[in-house]
Amino acid sequence: MLDNLTQRLAKVVKNLRGQARLTEDNIAEMLREVRMALLEADVALPVVKDFIARVKDRAVGQEVVGSLSPGQALVGVVHKELTELMGGQASGLNLASQPPAIILMSGLQGAGKTTTTAKLGKWLKERQKKKVLAVSCDVYRPAAIEQLKTVAAQAGIDFFPSTGEQKPADIAAAALDHAKRHYYDVLFVDTAGRLAIDEAMMAEIKALHAQLNPIESLFVVDAMLGQDAVNTAKAFNDALPLTGVILTKLDGDARGGAALSVRHVTGKPLKFAGIGEKLTGLEEFHPERMASRILGMGDILGLVEEAHRNVDQEKAKDLVQKMKSGKGFDLNDFKEQIAQMRKMGGMSSLLDKLPAQFGALAQQAGGAVEDKSIRRIEGIINSMTPLERTKPELLKASRKRRIAAGAGVQVQEVNRLLNQFEQTQKVMKQFSKGGMAKMMRGMKG
Ligand code: GDP
Repeated sequence: MLDNLTQRLAKVVKNLRGQARLTEDNIAEMLREVRMALLEADVALPVVKDFIARVKDRAVGQEVVGSLSPGQALVGVVHKELTELMGGQASGLNLASQPPAIILMSGLQGAGKTTTTAKLGKWLKERQKKKVLAVSCDVYRPAAIEQLKTVAAQAGIDFFPSTGEQKPADIAAAALDHAKRHYYDVLFVDTAGRLAIDEAMMAEIKALHAQLNPIESLFVVDAMLGQDAVNTAKAFNDALPLTGVILTKLDGDARGGAALSVRHVTGKPLKFAGIGEKLTGLEEFHPERMASRILGMGDILGLVEEAHRNVDQEKAKDLVQKMKSGKGFDLNDFKEQIAQMRKMGGMSSLLDKLPAQFGALAQQAGGAVEDKSIRRIEGIINSMTPLERTKPELLKASRKRRIAAGAGVQVQEVNRLLNQFEQTQKVMKQFSKGGMAKMMRGMKG
Protein backbone atom coordinates (compact mmCIF):
# COMPACT_ATOMS: atom_id res chain seq x y z
CA MET A 1 0.00 0.00 0.00
CA LEU A 2 1.39 3.41 -1.06
CA ASP A 3 4.74 1.67 -1.36
CA ASN A 4 6.35 3.99 -3.90
CA LEU A 5 5.53 7.12 -1.96
CA THR A 6 6.62 5.59 1.32
CA GLN A 7 9.93 4.45 -0.08
CA ARG A 8 10.75 7.89 -1.42
CA LEU A 9 9.66 9.83 1.62
CA ALA A 10 11.24 7.38 4.03
CA LYS A 11 14.55 8.09 2.29
CA VAL A 12 14.10 11.85 2.69
CA VAL A 13 13.27 11.34 6.36
CA LYS A 14 16.33 9.19 6.89
CA ASN A 15 18.64 11.76 5.32
CA LEU A 16 17.10 14.58 7.29
CA ARG A 17 17.40 12.86 10.62
CA GLY A 18 21.12 12.68 10.09
CA GLN A 19 21.51 16.44 9.55
CA ALA A 20 22.92 18.19 12.56
CA ARG A 21 22.55 21.57 10.98
CA LEU A 22 19.89 22.79 8.60
CA THR A 23 20.89 25.28 5.98
CA GLU A 24 18.86 26.97 3.29
CA ASP A 25 20.50 24.55 0.90
CA ASN A 26 19.58 21.32 2.55
CA ILE A 27 16.07 22.53 3.31
CA ALA A 28 15.61 23.43 -0.35
CA GLU A 29 16.99 20.04 -1.36
CA MET A 30 14.60 18.26 0.96
CA LEU A 31 11.63 20.26 -0.29
CA ARG A 32 12.57 19.39 -3.86
CA GLU A 33 12.63 15.71 -2.98
CA VAL A 34 9.28 15.85 -1.22
CA ARG A 35 7.78 17.76 -4.12
CA MET A 36 9.01 15.14 -6.60
CA ALA A 37 7.74 12.31 -4.44
CA LEU A 38 4.28 13.86 -4.20
CA LEU A 39 4.06 14.58 -7.92
CA GLU A 40 5.12 11.05 -8.73
CA ALA A 41 2.47 9.82 -6.33
CA ASP A 42 -0.04 11.58 -8.59
CA VAL A 43 -1.03 14.20 -6.05
CA ALA A 44 -2.79 17.16 -7.71
CA LEU A 45 -0.40 20.00 -8.50
CA PRO A 46 -2.21 22.75 -6.53
CA VAL A 47 -2.19 20.43 -3.54
CA VAL A 48 1.55 19.85 -3.87
CA LYS A 49 2.29 23.57 -4.20
CA ASP A 50 0.22 24.45 -1.20
CA PHE A 51 1.79 21.68 0.84
CA ILE A 52 5.36 22.66 -0.01
CA ALA A 53 4.64 26.31 0.78
CA ARG A 54 3.30 25.41 4.21
CA VAL A 55 6.23 23.17 5.08
CA LYS A 56 8.68 25.82 3.88
CA ASP A 57 6.99 28.46 5.99
CA ARG A 58 7.34 26.45 9.11
CA ALA A 59 10.75 25.09 8.22
CA VAL A 60 12.44 28.47 8.11
CA GLY A 61 10.56 29.58 11.21
CA GLN A 62 11.59 29.20 14.83
CA GLU A 63 9.92 25.85 15.13
CA VAL A 64 12.70 24.11 13.26
CA VAL A 65 15.81 26.22 13.10
CA GLY A 66 15.73 27.02 16.78
CA SER A 67 15.28 23.44 17.86
CA LEU A 68 17.93 21.10 19.22
CA SER A 69 17.70 18.57 16.43
CA PRO A 70 16.50 20.51 13.42
CA GLY A 71 16.43 17.50 11.10
CA GLN A 72 14.09 15.71 13.45
CA ALA A 73 11.98 18.85 13.87
CA LEU A 74 11.64 19.20 10.12
CA VAL A 75 10.43 15.62 9.84
CA GLY A 76 7.89 16.57 12.49
CA VAL A 77 6.72 19.51 10.38
CA VAL A 78 6.28 17.31 7.31
CA HIS A 79 4.38 14.80 9.41
CA LYS A 80 2.06 17.47 10.81
CA GLU A 81 1.39 18.99 7.42
CA LEU A 82 0.69 15.59 5.86
CA THR A 83 -1.76 14.94 8.67
CA GLU A 84 -3.47 18.28 8.07
CA LEU A 85 -3.59 17.63 4.36
CA MET A 86 -5.54 14.45 4.94
CA GLY A 87 -7.98 16.17 7.28
CA GLY A 88 -6.28 16.33 10.67
CA GLN A 89 -8.60 14.36 12.92
CA ALA A 90 -10.21 11.05 12.05
CA SER A 91 -13.83 11.92 11.45
CA GLY A 92 -15.67 8.63 11.90
CA LEU A 93 -19.28 7.97 11.01
CA ASN A 94 -22.10 10.13 12.23
CA LEU A 95 -25.02 7.97 13.26
CA ALA A 96 -26.69 10.52 15.49
CA SER A 97 -30.13 10.58 13.95
CA GLN A 98 -33.51 9.13 14.72
CA PRO A 99 -33.06 5.43 14.01
CA PRO A 100 -32.46 4.15 11.51
CA ALA A 101 -29.39 6.21 10.64
CA ILE A 102 -29.47 6.16 6.85
CA ILE A 103 -26.24 5.77 4.91
CA LEU A 104 -26.50 6.42 1.17
CA MET A 105 -23.74 4.82 -0.89
CA SER A 106 -22.81 6.24 -4.29
CA GLY A 107 -20.00 5.88 -6.81
CA LEU A 108 -19.02 4.67 -10.25
CA GLN A 109 -19.71 1.13 -11.28
CA GLY A 110 -16.98 -1.18 -10.02
CA ALA A 111 -15.79 1.32 -7.40
CA GLY A 112 -16.60 -1.14 -4.63
CA LYS A 113 -19.92 0.21 -3.32
CA THR A 114 -21.54 -3.14 -2.71
CA THR A 115 -18.48 -4.72 -1.13
CA THR A 116 -17.95 -1.64 1.03
CA THR A 117 -21.59 -1.62 2.13
CA ALA A 118 -21.13 -5.15 3.46
CA LYS A 119 -17.73 -4.34 5.03
CA LEU A 120 -19.07 -1.29 6.79
CA GLY A 121 -22.21 -3.12 7.86
CA LYS A 122 -20.09 -5.87 9.38
CA TRP A 123 -17.91 -3.26 11.07
CA LEU A 124 -20.91 -1.49 12.63
CA LYS A 125 -22.45 -4.75 13.71
CA GLU A 126 -19.33 -6.23 15.26
CA ARG A 127 -17.67 -3.16 16.73
CA GLN A 128 -20.69 -1.07 17.63
CA LYS A 129 -23.30 -3.77 18.07
CA LYS A 130 -25.63 -2.09 15.61
CA LYS A 131 -28.59 -3.79 14.01
CA VAL A 132 -27.98 -3.24 10.31
CA LEU A 133 -30.21 -3.53 7.22
CA ALA A 134 -29.00 -3.17 3.63
CA VAL A 135 -31.01 -2.59 0.48
CA SER A 136 -30.03 -2.19 -3.16
CA CYS A 137 -31.66 0.40 -5.42
CA ASP A 138 -29.69 -0.80 -8.44
CA VAL A 139 -32.66 -1.69 -10.62
CA TYR A 140 -30.52 -1.66 -13.74
CA ARG A 141 -28.45 -4.70 -12.83
CA PRO A 142 -30.39 -7.46 -11.09
CA ALA A 143 -27.02 -9.15 -10.54
CA ALA A 144 -26.07 -6.22 -8.31
CA ILE A 145 -29.06 -6.88 -6.06
CA GLU A 146 -28.08 -10.56 -5.85
CA GLN A 147 -24.48 -9.55 -5.07
CA LEU A 148 -25.60 -7.40 -2.15
CA LYS A 149 -27.74 -10.26 -0.88
CA THR A 150 -24.72 -12.57 -0.96
CA VAL A 151 -22.23 -10.23 0.70
CA ALA A 152 -24.76 -9.10 3.30
CA ALA A 153 -25.20 -12.73 4.33
CA GLN A 154 -21.42 -13.15 4.53
CA ALA A 155 -21.21 -9.99 6.62
CA GLY A 156 -23.97 -11.19 8.94
CA ILE A 157 -26.20 -8.17 8.30
CA ASP A 158 -29.82 -8.23 7.14
CA PHE A 159 -30.84 -7.75 3.55
CA PHE A 160 -34.06 -6.17 2.30
CA PRO A 161 -35.06 -7.71 -1.05
CA SER A 162 -35.78 -5.64 -4.15
CA THR A 163 -36.22 -6.37 -7.86
CA GLY A 164 -35.37 -4.81 -11.20
CA GLU A 165 -39.03 -4.07 -11.84
CA GLN A 166 -39.37 -1.64 -8.94
CA LYS A 167 -38.56 2.06 -8.85
CA PRO A 168 -35.60 3.11 -6.67
CA ALA A 169 -37.85 5.53 -4.74
CA ASP A 170 -40.34 2.75 -3.94
CA ILE A 171 -37.59 0.37 -2.87
CA ALA A 172 -36.09 2.99 -0.58
CA ALA A 173 -39.46 3.83 0.96
CA ALA A 174 -40.29 0.18 1.61
CA ALA A 175 -36.87 -0.51 3.12
CA LEU A 176 -37.09 2.52 5.37
CA ASP A 177 -40.55 1.49 6.53
CA HIS A 178 -39.30 -2.02 7.29
CA ALA A 179 -36.24 -0.66 9.10
CA LYS A 180 -38.40 1.56 11.31
CA ARG A 181 -40.86 -1.15 12.16
CA HIS A 182 -38.13 -3.61 13.05
CA TYR A 183 -35.99 -1.17 15.02
CA TYR A 184 -32.89 -1.20 12.87
CA ASP A 185 -30.13 1.16 13.96
CA VAL A 186 -28.66 1.59 10.51
CA LEU A 187 -30.02 1.36 6.96
CA PHE A 188 -27.58 1.16 4.06
CA VAL A 189 -28.95 2.21 0.70
CA ASP A 190 -26.71 0.92 -2.08
CA THR A 191 -27.25 2.60 -5.44
CA ALA A 192 -26.45 1.93 -9.09
CA GLY A 193 -23.07 3.05 -10.40
CA ARG A 194 -23.30 6.34 -12.22
CA LEU A 195 -21.23 9.14 -13.69
CA ALA A 196 -21.62 12.72 -12.49
CA ILE A 197 -22.15 13.80 -16.12
CA ASP A 198 -25.12 11.45 -16.55
CA GLU A 199 -27.94 13.88 -15.80
CA ALA A 200 -30.79 11.40 -15.62
CA MET A 201 -28.90 9.18 -13.20
CA MET A 202 -27.82 12.16 -11.11
CA ALA A 203 -31.41 13.38 -10.95
CA GLU A 204 -32.36 9.93 -9.66
CA ILE A 205 -29.85 9.90 -6.83
CA LYS A 206 -30.62 13.51 -5.90
CA ALA A 207 -34.28 12.53 -5.60
CA LEU A 208 -33.31 9.54 -3.43
CA HIS A 209 -31.22 11.84 -1.28
CA ALA A 210 -34.08 14.33 -0.88
CA GLN A 211 -36.49 11.53 -0.03
CA LEU A 212 -34.28 9.79 2.53
CA ASN A 213 -32.35 12.74 3.93
CA PRO A 214 -29.47 10.40 4.91
CA ILE A 215 -27.24 11.35 7.83
CA GLU A 216 -24.28 9.99 5.88
CA SER A 217 -23.92 10.23 2.13
CA LEU A 218 -20.72 8.43 1.22
CA PHE A 219 -18.94 8.47 -2.09
CA VAL A 220 -17.04 5.28 -2.79
CA VAL A 221 -14.10 5.60 -5.15
CA ASP A 222 -11.28 3.40 -6.39
CA ALA A 223 -7.93 4.75 -5.14
CA MET A 224 -6.11 3.24 -8.07
CA LEU A 225 -7.69 5.85 -10.35
CA GLY A 226 -5.37 8.41 -8.75
CA GLN A 227 -6.26 11.96 -9.76
CA ASP A 228 -9.28 10.72 -11.68
CA ALA A 229 -10.63 9.41 -8.40
CA VAL A 230 -10.28 12.85 -6.90
CA ASN A 231 -11.90 14.54 -9.89
CA THR A 232 -14.90 12.21 -9.84
CA ALA A 233 -15.32 12.76 -6.13
CA LYS A 234 -15.27 16.51 -6.71
CA ALA A 235 -17.85 16.34 -9.52
CA PHE A 236 -20.08 14.21 -7.33
CA ASN A 237 -19.66 16.48 -4.37
CA ASP A 238 -20.72 19.46 -6.50
CA ALA A 239 -23.93 17.64 -7.43
CA LEU A 240 -24.80 15.90 -4.17
CA PRO A 241 -24.16 16.98 -0.57
CA LEU A 242 -21.69 14.25 0.37
CA THR A 243 -20.64 13.78 3.98
CA GLY A 244 -17.54 11.74 3.25
CA VAL A 245 -15.46 9.65 0.91
CA ILE A 246 -14.37 6.03 1.11
CA LEU A 247 -11.29 5.07 -0.88
CA THR A 248 -11.28 1.44 -1.96
CA LYS A 249 -8.45 -0.75 -3.23
CA LEU A 250 -5.84 1.19 -1.28
CA ASP A 251 -4.11 -2.17 -0.95
CA GLY A 252 -3.33 -2.09 -4.66
CA ASP A 253 -2.40 1.58 -4.79
CA ALA A 254 1.35 2.08 -4.76
CA ARG A 255 1.22 5.82 -5.37
CA GLY A 256 -1.27 7.28 -2.94
CA GLY A 257 -2.24 10.43 -4.84
CA ALA A 258 -5.95 10.02 -4.17
CA ALA A 259 -5.48 9.44 -0.46
CA LEU A 260 -3.45 12.63 -0.21
CA SER A 261 -5.57 14.93 -2.37
CA VAL A 262 -9.17 13.93 -1.87
CA ARG A 263 -9.72 15.95 1.28
CA HIS A 264 -8.05 19.09 -0.04
CA VAL A 265 -9.91 18.99 -3.36
CA THR A 266 -13.40 18.04 -2.17
CA GLY A 267 -13.33 19.51 1.32
CA LYS A 268 -14.94 16.29 2.54
CA PRO A 269 -13.32 13.86 4.96
CA LEU A 270 -11.95 10.51 3.99
CA LYS A 271 -13.76 8.27 6.42
CA PHE A 272 -12.68 4.74 5.58
CA ALA A 273 -10.25 2.92 3.34
CA GLY A 274 -10.76 -0.42 1.63
CA ILE A 275 -7.62 -2.51 1.97
CA GLY A 276 -8.58 -5.91 0.57
CA GLU A 277 -11.25 -7.92 -1.16
CA LYS A 278 -12.32 -9.72 1.98
CA LEU A 279 -15.04 -8.28 4.18
CA THR A 280 -12.47 -7.61 6.89
CA GLY A 281 -10.49 -5.43 4.48
CA LEU A 282 -11.65 -2.08 5.80
CA GLU A 283 -9.95 0.49 8.01
CA GLU A 284 -11.08 3.69 9.63
CA PHE A 285 -9.06 6.45 8.06
CA HIS A 286 -6.77 8.13 10.62
CA PRO A 287 -4.88 11.01 8.96
CA GLU A 288 -2.13 11.07 11.55
CA ARG A 289 -1.46 7.36 11.41
CA MET A 290 -1.57 7.41 7.64
CA ALA A 291 1.00 10.23 7.65
CA SER A 292 3.26 8.08 9.85
CA ARG A 293 2.88 5.17 7.50
CA ILE A 294 3.63 7.31 4.47
CA LEU A 295 6.80 8.61 6.10
CA GLY A 296 7.92 5.08 6.80
CA MET A 297 7.35 5.38 10.54
CA GLY A 298 4.69 2.69 10.57
CA ASP A 299 1.34 2.67 12.30
CA ILE A 300 2.15 1.22 15.68
CA LEU A 301 -1.12 2.38 17.18
CA GLY A 302 -3.09 0.66 14.45
CA LEU A 303 -1.06 -2.48 14.95
CA VAL A 304 -1.62 -2.44 18.69
CA GLU A 305 -5.36 -1.91 18.21
CA GLU A 306 -5.59 -4.78 15.76
CA ALA A 307 -3.71 -6.96 18.17
CA HIS A 308 -6.01 -6.04 21.03
CA ARG A 309 -9.05 -6.96 19.05
CA ASN A 310 -7.88 -10.20 17.55
CA VAL A 311 -5.23 -11.72 19.63
CA ASP A 312 -5.51 -14.00 22.59
CA GLN A 313 -4.21 -11.70 25.33
CA GLU A 314 -2.57 -14.38 27.46
CA LYS A 315 -0.67 -15.90 24.57
CA ALA A 316 0.29 -12.45 23.35
CA LYS A 317 1.76 -11.57 26.76
CA ASP A 318 3.82 -14.72 26.61
CA LEU A 319 5.16 -13.81 23.23
CA VAL A 320 6.02 -10.28 24.24
CA GLN A 321 7.91 -11.69 27.19
CA LYS A 322 9.92 -13.87 24.87
CA MET A 323 10.48 -10.98 22.49
CA LYS A 324 11.80 -8.89 25.36
CA SER A 325 14.18 -11.51 26.59
CA GLY A 326 15.10 -12.53 23.06
CA LYS A 327 15.24 -16.10 24.37
CA GLY A 328 13.18 -19.21 24.15
CA PHE A 329 11.36 -18.37 20.96
CA ASP A 330 10.66 -21.80 19.49
CA LEU A 331 8.59 -23.39 16.75
CA ASN A 332 5.50 -23.55 18.98
CA ASP A 333 5.69 -19.78 19.33
CA PHE A 334 6.30 -19.46 15.63
CA LYS A 335 3.17 -21.42 14.91
CA GLU A 336 1.21 -19.40 17.43
CA GLN A 337 2.48 -16.20 15.89
CA ILE A 338 1.39 -17.33 12.46
CA ALA A 339 -2.06 -18.26 13.71
CA GLN A 340 -2.41 -14.82 15.28
CA MET A 341 -1.24 -13.12 12.12
CA ARG A 342 -3.96 -14.93 10.27
CA LYS A 343 -6.49 -13.51 12.69
CA MET A 344 -5.11 -10.04 12.17
CA GLY A 345 -5.80 -9.96 8.47
CA GLY A 346 -2.74 -11.77 7.14
CA MET A 347 0.81 -10.80 6.48
CA SER A 348 0.29 -8.04 3.97
CA SER A 349 -1.88 -5.95 6.23
CA LEU A 350 0.64 -6.32 9.07
CA LEU A 351 3.65 -5.40 6.99
CA ASP A 352 1.93 -2.22 5.90
CA LYS A 353 1.78 -1.04 9.48
CA LEU A 354 5.39 -1.72 10.42
CA PRO A 355 7.97 1.09 10.18
CA ALA A 356 9.97 0.88 6.97
CA GLN A 357 13.16 -0.49 8.51
CA PHE A 358 11.29 -3.31 10.26
CA GLY A 359 8.99 -3.86 7.33
CA ALA A 360 11.95 -4.83 5.17
CA LEU A 361 13.33 -7.22 7.76
CA ALA A 362 10.01 -8.80 8.45
CA GLN A 363 9.35 -9.11 4.77
CA GLN A 364 12.33 -11.41 4.47
CA ALA A 365 11.20 -13.39 7.43
CA GLY A 366 7.66 -13.61 6.28
CA GLY A 367 8.30 -13.74 2.54
CA ALA A 368 6.61 -17.05 2.08
CA VAL A 369 4.15 -16.58 4.90
CA GLU A 370 1.55 -15.60 2.39
CA ASP A 371 -1.91 -16.11 3.52
CA LYS A 372 -2.36 -19.31 1.56
CA SER A 373 0.80 -21.04 2.71
CA ILE A 374 0.03 -20.39 6.36
CA ARG A 375 -1.95 -23.61 6.62
CA ARG A 376 0.87 -25.66 5.09
CA ILE A 377 3.27 -24.26 7.65
CA GLU A 378 0.92 -25.21 10.42
CA GLY A 379 0.67 -28.68 8.88
CA ILE A 380 4.44 -29.11 8.91
CA ILE A 381 4.81 -27.95 12.49
CA ASN A 382 1.97 -30.26 13.51
CA SER A 383 3.99 -33.18 12.12
CA MET A 384 6.86 -32.48 14.51
CA THR A 385 7.15 -34.00 17.95
CA PRO A 386 6.85 -31.64 20.93
CA LEU A 387 10.57 -32.03 21.56
CA GLU A 388 11.43 -31.09 17.98
CA ARG A 389 9.28 -28.01 18.24
CA THR A 390 11.13 -26.74 21.27
CA LYS A 391 14.55 -27.78 19.96
CA PRO A 392 14.58 -27.14 16.23
CA GLU A 393 18.33 -27.81 16.17
CA LEU A 394 17.46 -31.53 16.44
CA LEU A 395 16.04 -31.44 12.96
CA LYS A 396 18.57 -33.28 10.83
CA ALA A 397 17.97 -35.02 7.49
CA SER A 398 16.13 -38.13 8.66
CA ARG A 399 13.76 -36.26 10.96
CA LYS A 400 13.08 -33.77 8.20
CA ARG A 401 12.17 -36.61 5.82
CA ARG A 402 9.76 -38.05 8.37
CA ILE A 403 8.13 -34.66 8.97
CA ALA A 404 7.82 -33.94 5.25
CA ALA A 405 6.16 -37.31 4.68
CA GLY A 406 3.83 -36.71 7.60
CA ALA A 407 2.75 -33.31 6.31
CA GLY A 408 2.58 -34.46 2.71
CA VAL A 409 5.18 -31.95 1.46
CA GLN A 410 8.70 -31.98 0.00
CA VAL A 411 11.72 -31.80 2.30
CA GLN A 412 12.58 -28.44 0.71
CA GLU A 413 9.44 -26.99 2.21
CA VAL A 414 10.49 -28.10 5.66
CA ASN A 415 13.84 -26.43 5.07
CA ARG A 416 12.18 -23.26 3.90
CA LEU A 417 10.06 -23.16 7.01
CA LEU A 418 13.09 -23.59 9.25
CA ASN A 419 14.75 -20.77 7.39
CA GLN A 420 11.81 -18.49 7.97
CA PHE A 421 11.79 -19.45 11.58
CA GLU A 422 15.45 -18.47 11.93
CA GLN A 423 14.81 -15.16 10.18
CA THR A 424 11.93 -14.48 12.52
CA GLN A 425 14.15 -15.24 15.49
CA LYS A 426 16.51 -12.58 14.17
CA VAL A 427 13.70 -10.04 13.94
CA MET A 428 12.76 -10.93 17.51
CA LYS A 429 16.31 -10.24 18.63
CA GLN A 430 16.17 -6.85 16.88
CA PHE A 431 13.04 -5.96 18.78
CA SER A 432 14.53 -7.13 22.03
CA LYS A 433 17.62 -4.95 21.55
CA GLY A 434 15.47 -1.92 22.22
CA GLY A 435 14.41 -1.66 18.61
CA MET A 436 10.85 -0.99 19.64
CA ALA A 437 11.77 1.82 22.01
CA LYS A 438 14.02 3.41 19.43
CA MET A 439 11.25 3.20 16.90
CA MET A 440 8.73 4.90 19.15
CA ARG A 441 11.15 7.72 19.88
CA GLY A 442 11.60 8.16 16.15
CA MET A 443 7.89 8.47 15.68
CA LYS A 444 7.47 11.36 18.02
CA GLY A 445 9.78 13.28 15.65
P1 GDP B 1 -19.68 -1.74 -7.16
O1 GDP B 1 -19.98 -1.95 -8.61
O2 GDP B 1 -19.30 -0.33 -6.89
O3 GDP B 1 -20.75 -2.25 -6.26
O4 GDP B 1 -18.34 -2.58 -6.87
P2 GDP B 1 -18.16 -4.01 -6.16
O5 GDP B 1 -18.48 -3.92 -4.74
O6 GDP B 1 -18.83 -5.04 -6.97
O7 GDP B 1 -16.55 -4.18 -6.27
C1 GDP B 1 -15.88 -4.27 -7.51
C2 GDP B 1 -14.63 -5.12 -7.33
O8 GDP B 1 -13.68 -4.48 -6.51
C3 GDP B 1 -14.91 -6.45 -6.66
O9 GDP B 1 -14.17 -7.46 -7.35
C4 GDP B 1 -14.39 -6.27 -5.24
O10 GDP B 1 -13.95 -7.49 -4.68
C5 GDP B 1 -13.25 -5.33 -5.48
N1 GDP B 1 -12.94 -4.52 -4.28
C6 GDP B 1 -13.75 -3.70 -3.59
N2 GDP B 1 -13.09 -3.10 -2.57
C7 GDP B 1 -11.81 -3.54 -2.61
C8 GDP B 1 -10.63 -3.26 -1.83
O11 GDP B 1 -10.59 -2.47 -0.89
N3 GDP B 1 -9.49 -3.93 -2.20
C9 GDP B 1 -9.47 -4.80 -3.26
N4 GDP B 1 -8.31 -5.39 -3.54
N5 GDP B 1 -10.56 -5.05 -4.01
C10 GDP B 1 -11.71 -4.45 -3.70
